[in-house]
Amino acid sequence: MSTPSLDADVLVIGAGPAGVAAALMATSLNMKVLVVEADSVGGKLQTIGALENVSGNWTTGPQLAEALATDLSRLEQAGRCSLVRSRAVGVKGHSDQVEVLLADTHVLTAQAVVVSTGVAAMTPSDTDWISAAPSLSTPPLWRAKPEQVGPRTYVLGGDRPLGTWLRAHPKSSVALHVLAPPTDDYKLVEVSGDDRIQVVPVSSVVISRPENGDGFIVEVQDRQRERKVYAATAVLSNLGSRPAALEGLTSDETGYCPPDLQHPRIFIAGDLRSGRYQRITTAQGSGAEAALAYYYSNALQQA
Ligand SMILES: Cc1cc2nc3c(=O)[nH]c(=O)nc-3n(C[C@H](O)[C@H](O)[C@H](O)COP(=O)(O)OP(=O)(O)OC[C@H]3O[C@@H](n4cnc5c(N)ncnc54)[C@H](O)[C@@H]3O)c2cc1C
Repeated sequence: MSTPSLDADVLVIGAGPAGVAAALMATSLNMKVLVVEADSVGGKLQTIGALENVSGNWTTGPQLAEALATDLSRLEQAGRCSLVRSRAVGVKGHSDQVEVLLADTHVLTAQAVVVSTGVAAMTPSDTDWISAAPSLSTPPLWRAKPEQVGPRTYVLGGDRPLGTWLRAHPKSSVALHVLAPPTDDYKLVEVSGDDRIQVVPVSSVVISRPENGDGFIVEVQDRQRERKVYAATAVLSNLGSRPAALEGLTSDETGYCPPDLQHPRIFIAGDLRSGRYQRITTAQGSGAEAALAYYYSNALQQA
Protein backbone atom coordinates (compact mmCIF):
# COMPACT_ATOMS: atom_id res chain seq x y z
CA MET A 1 0.00 0.00 0.00
CA SER A 2 2.96 2.40 0.63
CA THR A 3 3.82 5.07 -1.96
CA PRO A 4 7.65 5.37 -1.85
CA SER A 5 7.75 9.09 -2.68
CA LEU A 6 5.59 9.97 0.33
CA ASP A 7 6.68 10.05 3.97
CA ALA A 8 3.84 7.72 5.05
CA ASP A 9 0.50 6.26 4.04
CA VAL A 10 -1.18 8.04 6.95
CA LEU A 11 0.01 10.95 9.02
CA VAL A 12 -1.54 11.30 12.47
CA ILE A 13 -1.28 14.71 14.14
CA GLY A 14 -1.59 14.51 17.93
CA ALA A 15 -0.85 11.42 20.05
CA GLY A 16 -3.70 11.63 22.54
CA PRO A 17 -6.20 8.76 22.88
CA ALA A 18 -7.66 9.53 19.42
CA GLY A 19 -4.33 9.74 17.59
CA VAL A 20 -2.89 6.60 19.17
CA ALA A 21 -6.07 4.65 18.35
CA ALA A 22 -5.83 5.89 14.74
CA ALA A 23 -2.18 4.79 14.55
CA LEU A 24 -2.97 1.35 16.00
CA MET A 25 -5.84 0.79 13.59
CA ALA A 26 -3.94 2.06 10.53
CA THR A 27 -0.86 -0.09 11.25
CA SER A 28 -3.10 -3.12 11.81
CA LEU A 29 -4.31 -2.55 8.22
CA ASN A 30 -0.72 -2.60 6.99
CA MET A 31 -0.40 1.14 6.49
CA LYS A 32 2.84 2.96 7.20
CA VAL A 33 2.11 5.62 9.83
CA LEU A 34 3.88 8.73 11.02
CA VAL A 35 2.63 10.36 14.23
CA VAL A 36 3.43 14.04 14.87
CA GLU A 37 3.24 15.03 18.56
CA ALA A 38 4.11 18.46 19.95
CA ASP A 39 4.20 17.49 23.62
CA SER A 40 3.56 14.19 25.47
CA VAL A 41 2.03 10.96 24.21
CA GLY A 42 -1.34 10.60 25.94
CA GLY A 43 -2.39 14.23 25.54
CA LYS A 44 -4.99 15.30 28.10
CA LEU A 45 -4.71 11.96 29.89
CA GLN A 46 -1.69 13.47 31.65
CA THR A 47 -4.04 15.87 33.46
CA ILE A 48 -6.60 13.35 34.76
CA GLY A 49 -6.06 12.61 38.45
CA ALA A 50 -8.94 10.15 38.84
CA LEU A 51 -10.43 7.96 36.11
CA GLU A 52 -13.58 5.89 36.40
CA ASN A 53 -15.27 5.69 32.98
CA VAL A 54 -12.67 3.74 30.98
CA SER A 55 -12.53 -0.05 30.94
CA GLY A 56 -9.28 -1.82 31.81
CA ASN A 57 -8.93 -0.94 35.49
CA TRP A 58 -7.07 2.34 34.91
CA THR A 59 -7.50 4.61 37.92
CA THR A 60 -5.59 7.67 36.66
CA GLY A 61 -5.00 9.27 33.25
CA PRO A 62 -1.17 9.10 33.42
CA GLN A 63 -1.38 5.27 33.84
CA LEU A 64 -3.32 4.99 30.60
CA ALA A 65 -1.01 7.54 28.90
CA GLU A 66 1.97 5.34 29.76
CA ALA A 67 0.22 2.34 28.23
CA LEU A 68 -0.43 4.32 25.02
CA ALA A 69 3.25 5.37 24.88
CA THR A 70 4.18 1.67 25.20
CA ASP A 71 1.82 0.85 22.31
CA LEU A 72 3.51 3.44 20.09
CA SER A 73 7.00 2.21 21.05
CA ARG A 74 5.99 -1.33 20.16
CA LEU A 75 4.80 -0.16 16.72
CA GLU A 76 8.02 1.85 16.25
CA GLN A 77 10.18 -1.16 17.15
CA ALA A 78 8.24 -3.24 14.64
CA GLY A 79 9.03 -0.60 11.98
CA ARG A 80 5.34 0.14 11.35
CA CYS A 81 5.14 3.64 12.78
CA SER A 82 7.44 6.58 13.57
CA LEU A 83 6.92 9.30 16.16
CA VAL A 84 8.00 12.82 15.13
CA ARG A 85 8.37 15.29 18.01
CA SER A 86 7.18 18.49 16.37
CA ARG A 87 4.27 20.93 16.16
CA ALA A 88 2.10 20.86 13.04
CA VAL A 89 0.84 24.28 11.94
CA GLY A 90 -1.13 23.53 8.77
CA VAL A 91 -2.60 20.85 6.51
CA LYS A 92 -3.35 20.91 2.80
CA GLY A 93 -5.36 18.33 0.84
CA HIS A 94 -4.57 17.69 -2.84
CA SER A 95 -6.14 15.25 -5.30
CA ASP A 96 -3.32 12.71 -4.86
CA GLN A 97 -1.81 13.44 -1.41
CA VAL A 98 -1.86 15.59 1.72
CA GLU A 99 0.82 17.90 3.04
CA VAL A 100 1.41 18.75 6.69
CA LEU A 101 3.45 21.84 7.47
CA LEU A 102 5.51 21.70 10.67
CA ALA A 103 6.51 24.68 12.81
CA ASP A 104 10.15 24.25 11.72
CA THR A 105 8.89 24.73 8.07
CA HIS A 106 9.49 21.05 7.22
CA VAL A 107 6.68 19.54 5.07
CA LEU A 108 5.49 15.93 5.49
CA THR A 109 3.46 14.12 2.83
CA ALA A 110 1.09 11.15 2.90
CA GLN A 111 -1.98 9.66 1.29
CA ALA A 112 -4.18 10.88 4.13
CA VAL A 113 -4.01 12.65 7.47
CA VAL A 114 -5.88 12.09 10.73
CA VAL A 115 -5.95 15.34 12.71
CA SER A 116 -6.48 14.66 16.42
CA THR A 117 -5.04 17.75 18.10
CA GLY A 118 -7.85 18.00 20.68
CA VAL A 119 -8.46 21.25 22.51
CA ALA A 120 -6.22 23.84 24.19
CA ALA A 121 -6.88 25.38 27.61
CA MET A 122 -8.47 28.84 27.52
CA THR A 123 -6.80 31.65 29.40
CA PRO A 124 -8.53 34.71 30.94
CA SER A 125 -7.73 36.71 27.78
CA ASP A 126 -9.75 34.19 25.69
CA THR A 127 -12.94 35.07 27.64
CA ASP A 128 -15.19 38.13 27.48
CA TRP A 129 -16.03 38.13 31.22
CA ILE A 130 -12.58 38.32 32.85
CA SER A 131 -10.25 41.34 32.83
CA ALA A 132 -6.70 40.82 34.02
CA ALA A 133 -3.26 42.04 33.05
CA PRO A 134 -1.67 39.58 30.56
CA SER A 135 1.28 39.15 32.95
CA LEU A 136 -1.00 37.91 35.75
CA SER A 137 -0.60 34.15 36.03
CA THR A 138 -3.57 31.94 36.96
CA PRO A 139 -2.35 28.30 37.05
CA PRO A 140 -4.75 25.52 36.05
CA LEU A 141 -6.92 23.98 38.78
CA TRP A 142 -6.21 20.41 37.58
CA ARG A 143 -2.53 20.81 38.50
CA ALA A 144 -3.16 22.24 42.00
CA LYS A 145 -2.25 20.03 44.94
CA PRO A 146 -4.62 20.19 47.97
CA GLU A 147 -1.86 21.79 50.07
CA GLN A 148 -1.70 24.68 47.54
CA VAL A 149 -5.42 25.37 47.96
CA GLY A 150 -6.34 27.59 50.90
CA PRO A 151 -9.65 28.84 52.31
CA ARG A 152 -9.48 31.92 50.06
CA THR A 153 -8.74 30.19 46.77
CA TYR A 154 -10.88 31.44 43.87
CA VAL A 155 -11.46 29.36 40.76
CA LEU A 156 -12.20 31.03 37.43
CA GLY A 157 -14.95 29.06 35.72
CA GLY A 158 -16.90 25.89 36.44
CA ASP A 159 -15.55 23.59 33.75
CA ARG A 160 -15.57 19.81 34.23
CA PRO A 161 -12.06 19.40 35.69
CA LEU A 162 -13.68 20.69 38.89
CA GLY A 163 -15.43 17.34 39.32
CA THR A 164 -12.22 15.46 38.47
CA TRP A 165 -10.26 17.50 41.05
CA LEU A 166 -12.82 16.79 43.78
CA ARG A 167 -12.80 13.06 42.99
CA ALA A 168 -8.99 13.00 42.90
CA HIS A 169 -8.78 14.65 46.35
CA PRO A 170 -11.66 13.17 48.36
CA LYS A 171 -9.93 13.92 51.67
CA SER A 172 -9.37 17.62 50.99
CA SER A 173 -11.94 19.56 53.02
CA VAL A 174 -11.04 23.02 51.74
CA ALA A 175 -13.76 25.14 50.10
CA LEU A 176 -13.29 26.27 46.51
CA HIS A 177 -14.95 29.59 45.59
CA VAL A 178 -15.98 29.11 41.98
CA LEU A 179 -16.60 32.29 39.98
CA ALA A 180 -19.17 31.15 37.42
CA PRO A 181 -20.63 33.07 34.47
CA PRO A 182 -24.16 32.06 33.36
CA THR A 183 -22.74 29.89 30.54
CA ASP A 184 -21.13 27.58 33.13
CA ASP A 185 -24.27 26.95 35.19
CA TYR A 186 -25.07 23.63 33.49
CA LYS A 187 -21.54 22.33 34.10
CA LEU A 188 -21.87 22.91 37.86
CA VAL A 189 -24.75 20.44 38.18
CA GLU A 190 -22.14 17.64 38.31
CA VAL A 191 -20.63 19.05 41.54
CA SER A 192 -23.77 20.51 43.12
CA GLY A 193 -23.89 17.80 45.82
CA ASP A 194 -20.35 18.53 47.04
CA ASP A 195 -20.33 21.01 49.92
CA ARG A 196 -16.67 21.91 49.23
CA ILE A 197 -17.91 23.99 46.28
CA GLN A 198 -19.11 27.55 46.92
CA VAL A 199 -20.47 28.95 43.69
CA VAL A 200 -20.23 32.73 43.18
CA PRO A 201 -22.53 33.55 40.22
CA VAL A 202 -20.96 36.44 38.29
CA SER A 203 -21.46 38.45 35.12
CA SER A 204 -17.91 39.82 35.06
CA VAL A 205 -14.66 39.71 37.05
CA VAL A 206 -11.60 41.97 37.30
CA ILE A 207 -8.45 40.46 38.85
CA SER A 208 -5.52 42.53 40.01
CA ARG A 209 -2.63 42.48 42.47
CA PRO A 210 -2.73 44.59 45.67
CA GLU A 211 0.00 47.18 46.07
CA ASN A 212 1.91 45.05 48.59
CA GLY A 213 1.95 42.21 46.00
CA ASP A 214 0.43 39.61 48.39
CA GLY A 215 -2.38 37.59 46.86
CA PHE A 216 -5.04 38.96 44.51
CA ILE A 217 -7.96 41.37 44.48
CA VAL A 218 -11.00 39.80 42.87
CA GLU A 219 -13.60 42.37 41.91
CA VAL A 220 -16.88 40.82 40.89
CA GLN A 221 -20.07 42.06 39.32
CA ASP A 222 -22.76 39.60 40.31
CA ARG A 223 -25.75 38.62 38.18
CA GLN A 224 -27.75 41.55 39.66
CA ARG A 225 -24.90 43.90 38.63
CA GLU A 226 -23.87 44.47 42.26
CA ARG A 227 -20.14 44.96 42.85
CA LYS A 228 -18.31 42.83 45.43
CA VAL A 229 -14.61 42.67 46.23
CA TYR A 230 -12.78 39.63 47.62
CA ALA A 231 -9.20 39.18 48.80
CA ALA A 232 -7.84 35.91 47.41
CA THR A 233 -4.70 34.00 48.34
CA ALA A 234 -4.74 32.11 45.03
CA VAL A 235 -6.64 32.31 41.72
CA LEU A 236 -6.80 29.18 39.58
CA SER A 237 -8.05 28.78 36.00
CA ASN A 238 -10.77 26.31 35.09
CA LEU A 239 -12.12 27.98 31.98
CA GLY A 240 -12.55 25.12 29.60
CA SER A 241 -10.99 24.78 26.22
CA ARG A 242 -10.99 25.92 22.64
CA PRO A 243 -10.44 23.67 19.62
CA ALA A 244 -6.78 23.29 18.63
CA ALA A 245 -7.58 23.67 14.92
CA LEU A 246 -4.83 23.90 12.31
CA GLU A 247 -4.58 26.18 9.30
CA GLY A 248 -6.23 24.48 6.32
CA LEU A 249 -9.03 22.76 8.26
CA THR A 250 -12.64 23.83 7.85
CA SER A 251 -14.23 25.00 11.12
CA ASP A 252 -17.90 25.57 11.91
CA GLU A 253 -19.25 28.60 13.78
CA THR A 254 -18.07 27.16 17.12
CA GLY A 255 -14.47 26.83 15.91
CA TYR A 256 -14.61 23.00 15.95
CA CYS A 257 -13.80 20.96 12.82
CA PRO A 258 -16.66 18.60 11.88
CA PRO A 259 -15.28 15.56 10.00
CA ASP A 260 -17.80 15.87 7.16
CA LEU A 261 -16.67 19.42 6.23
CA GLN A 262 -13.07 18.43 5.41
CA HIS A 263 -11.12 17.55 2.24
CA PRO A 264 -11.60 13.82 1.40
CA ARG A 265 -8.02 13.05 2.46
CA ILE A 266 -8.34 14.87 5.80
CA PHE A 267 -9.95 12.96 8.70
CA ILE A 268 -10.76 14.49 12.08
CA ALA A 269 -10.83 12.48 15.32
CA GLY A 270 -11.29 13.07 19.04
CA ASP A 271 -12.15 16.28 20.86
CA LEU A 272 -11.43 18.45 17.80
CA ARG A 273 -14.64 17.18 16.15
CA SER A 274 -17.08 19.02 18.40
CA GLY A 275 -17.66 20.45 21.87
CA ARG A 276 -19.78 17.38 22.60
CA TYR A 277 -18.69 13.78 23.23
CA GLN A 278 -15.32 14.86 24.62
CA ARG A 279 -14.38 11.67 26.41
CA ILE A 280 -11.48 9.23 26.26
CA THR A 281 -13.37 6.27 24.85
CA THR A 282 -15.23 8.34 22.24
CA ALA A 283 -11.86 9.82 21.19
CA GLN A 284 -10.41 6.33 20.82
CA GLY A 285 -13.43 5.11 18.84
CA SER A 286 -13.30 8.08 16.48
CA GLY A 287 -9.53 7.67 15.94
CA ALA A 288 -9.96 4.03 14.96
CA GLU A 289 -12.94 4.96 12.79
CA ALA A 290 -10.97 7.70 11.00
CA ALA A 291 -8.27 5.19 10.00
CA LEU A 292 -10.94 2.76 8.79
CA ALA A 293 -12.75 5.52 6.87
CA TYR A 294 -9.57 6.20 4.91
CA TYR A 295 -8.93 2.46 4.46
CA TYR A 296 -12.39 1.87 2.97
CA SER A 297 -12.30 4.99 0.77
CA ASN A 298 -8.94 3.85 -0.58
CA ALA A 299 -10.12 0.26 -1.05
CA LEU A 300 -13.17 1.51 -2.94
CA GLN A 301 -11.01 3.55 -5.32
CA GLN A 302 -8.85 0.52 -6.07
CA ALA A 303 -11.77 -1.94 -6.46
C1 LIG B 1 -8.82 17.79 33.56
C2 LIG B 1 -9.53 16.86 32.60
C3 LIG B 1 -10.18 15.76 33.10
C4 LIG B 1 -10.82 14.87 32.23
N1 LIG B 1 -11.40 13.75 32.77
C5 LIG B 1 -11.95 12.83 31.93
C6 LIG B 1 -12.48 11.61 32.47
O1 LIG B 1 -12.46 11.36 33.68
N2 LIG B 1 -13.00 10.73 31.57
C7 LIG B 1 -13.05 10.95 30.22
O2 LIG B 1 -13.55 10.10 29.48
N3 LIG B 1 -12.55 12.09 29.71
C8 LIG B 1 -11.99 13.02 30.52
N4 LIG B 1 -11.47 14.17 29.99
C9 LIG B 1 -11.54 14.39 28.53
C10 LIG B 1 -10.48 13.56 27.78
O3 LIG B 1 -9.22 13.79 28.36
C11 LIG B 1 -10.48 13.95 26.31
O4 LIG B 1 -11.78 13.76 25.78
C12 LIG B 1 -9.48 13.10 25.48
O5 LIG B 1 -8.18 13.18 26.01
C13 LIG B 1 -9.48 13.60 24.03
O6 LIG B 1 -8.53 12.91 23.30
P1 LIG B 1 -7.90 13.53 21.97
O7 LIG B 1 -6.92 12.51 21.49
O8 LIG B 1 -8.97 14.00 21.06
O9 LIG B 1 -7.15 14.87 22.42
P2 LIG B 1 -5.98 15.16 23.51
O10 LIG B 1 -6.00 14.17 24.62
O11 LIG B 1 -6.17 16.58 23.82
O12 LIG B 1 -4.66 14.94 22.67
C14 LIG B 1 -4.28 15.85 21.66
C15 LIG B 1 -2.79 15.69 21.40
O13 LIG B 1 -2.44 16.49 20.28
C16 LIG B 1 -1.23 17.18 20.55
N5 LIG B 1 -1.22 18.39 19.72
C17 LIG B 1 -2.05 19.46 19.82
N6 LIG B 1 -1.78 20.38 18.86
C18 LIG B 1 -0.75 19.84 18.14
C19 LIG B 1 -0.03 20.29 16.99
N7 LIG B 1 -0.32 21.46 16.42
N8 LIG B 1 0.96 19.51 16.49
C20 LIG B 1 1.25 18.31 17.08
N9 LIG B 1 0.60 17.84 18.17
C21 LIG B 1 -0.40 18.58 18.69
C22 LIG B 1 -1.30 17.49 22.03
O14 LIG B 1 0.00 17.73 22.57
C23 LIG B 1 -1.92 16.20 22.57
O15 LIG B 1 -0.96 15.22 22.88
C24 LIG B 1 -10.84 15.10 30.82
C25 LIG B 1 -10.18 16.23 30.31
C26 LIG B 1 -9.54 17.12 31.20
C27 LIG B 1 -8.84 18.33 30.63
